[in-house]
Amino acid sequence: MGVTARGTQPDPPGGALHGCAKGAVAPVTMQGYIPVMSDVPCVRCGQTRQRIAAPPFRNVLGDRIYDSICQTCWEEWLQHQTAVINHYALDLRDPRARDFLTTQTETFLFGEPPA
Ligand SMILES: [Zn+2]
Repeated sequence: MGVTARGTQPDPPGGALHGCAKGAVAPVTMQGYIPVMSDVPCVRCGQTRQRIAAPPFRNVLGDRIYDSICQTCWEEWLQHQTAVINHYALDLRDPRARDFLTTQTETFLFGEPPA
């Protein structure tokens, strides 16, 4: 009646562990990005002036501004932008408002809306 299961399995002897130690990993030196104070030929004012510290947007327009608009003109736009936002009561959580502002940015800095 009583079934006694004796599952006594002996451990396999000599579990050979294969040490796959790789060579010492060379320390990764992080090349810190050092922003360089540089000048940019500005397409808006036509002068070569101090560049903006970093692209203001993470898109093509941001790169375009960074590459061709000086700090002075950018600051002018920032002031104008505030006026635009207030004037139109823009809610920047609204994608349409951001689109509108992007167009305003391009018109202000580059003189013409995108084609
Ligand atoms: Zn400029």
